[in-house]
Amino acid sequence: MSINDSILNSVGLTDKNIKFLISDDGNFNELVTIGDNQHQALRYRATLTTVPEHCPQCGVLLSDHFYLAGTDTASYKLPTVNGYQQILLLTKQRYQCRRCQSTFIAQSEDFMTNTTISRPLLYQVIDLAKRDISEKDIAYILHLSHSKVNRLLHHAAQAYRTNYTKILPAVICVDEVLYAKHHYGFEMINGTTSDLIELFPTRTSLDIRRYLSNYNLANRQRVQYVVTDMNANYGTPLRAMFPNAQIVVDRFHIIQLAMKAVQSTRITLQRAIDNKRSRVYKLLKSNWQFFITDQSKINTVQPRWFKGINEYLYPQDALQLVFGLSPKFKQAYQVYQTILSAQQSRSFNEFSEILSQYEPNHSAMDQVMVSYKKNLKGIRNAFSKKHSNGRIEGINRRIKQIGRTAYGYGNALNYFFRIRLQLFNRQHIDANFMTLLTKKNLRI
Ligand SMILES: [Zn+2]
Repeated sequence: MSINDSILNSVGLTDKNIKFLISDDGNFNELVTIGDNQHQALRYRATLTTVPEHCPQCGVLLSDHFYLAGTDTASYKLPTVNGYQQILLLTKQRYQCRRCQSTFIAQSEDFMTNTTISRPLLYQVIDLAKRDISEKDIAYILHLSHSKVNRLLHHAAQAYRTNYTKILPAVICVDEVLYAKHHYGFEMINGTTSDLIELFPTRTSLDIRRYLSNYNLANRQRVQYVVTDMNANYGTPLRAMFPNAQIVVDRFHIIQLAMKAVQSTRITLQRAIDNKRSRVYKLLKSNWQFFITDQSKINTVQPRWFKGINEYLYPQDALQLVFGLSPKFKQAYQVYQTILSAQQSRSFNEFSEILSQYEPNHSAMDQVMVSYKKNLKGIRNAFSKKHSNGRIEGINRRIKQIGRTAYGYGNALNYFFRIRLQLFNRQHIDANFMTLLTKKNLRI
């Protein structure tokens, strides 16, 4: 390997037409102090003399139909190595076409038009963006300005296209994702591997149809189970778009809905109590966890310590104290506990019995029962299938974390791109994307 090739390798460039200047005593770079913050950088000098095959203007085969027309020197930013910024002063040959007289300059795949960012440095930006690191930190590591990194990522985000030819898995989990104040997106993950399949910026019924219909029918027919919560918007478009799939309501969501009803009934009751110093008020206020705990996991043989009232009580006595005050709360609590027990014994019959026996009493639980009835088929599947949306919770946590690292993304496009970069299986942001990205005219 020539010394020139070794230098190319060490600075991360690939074009062998870039010829480094090597001094008589063998030096090919120098430490220089540059920039507002007077940081040290390694500077290289090189020439580029690549004659294009055809004249870019008139298309004539150039071979030797050209004149040399001077040189241009530009400074490019190279990838960071050992913490040093590396810069390249590149002297590029200018040519003139003999036929049309137009002039043009030597080009290299390692550089892009309209930017001093070299292609390998752009790759470094994208690579760091796959990690949970803020744009500001990426800028610091690569010796770029924050705004430059922001624009590079914005450019990359614009170049991103959803790959609708991706083979869909047999089990899909869908959920909504809050990505900005009042802005919900729609996400799909692979129910088996937990990989994010895709993220869409809106979640209306019409939009979901529009996104999903980009996958061809044969692909959509592969999907056998769609795990979802009880959001009324999704059912219809999901059934239409995945004709072979059974909807499975997420079993944690079934419980969560009833649990929230218990919580809200407790809070309503608490607020209605005038005497804030009464035992029952203090009991309700300080022991919210107790009232949503699975009864089968509560030890009823021994008294336990209750906060707020600061007493030892048998759990059943504590419950009676509240039940005596509010039959509504009693009902909500008992319905919730029966649902927990039905789930544990995986008995759909037990569950549907709750529905048929329930008597509405203008409490939060009424609405829960309506939702259950609407989604009964999906709930029945939840009892017989093992699929759940548990995996999507992990994805949602990571999405929130990405937002926190960035201190909130002002720009949804950039935020979505970072989510994709960080959550997709790495291969999805593949060479094709990078080629597409760098072919686009960068103005940064
Ligand atoms: Zn020409």
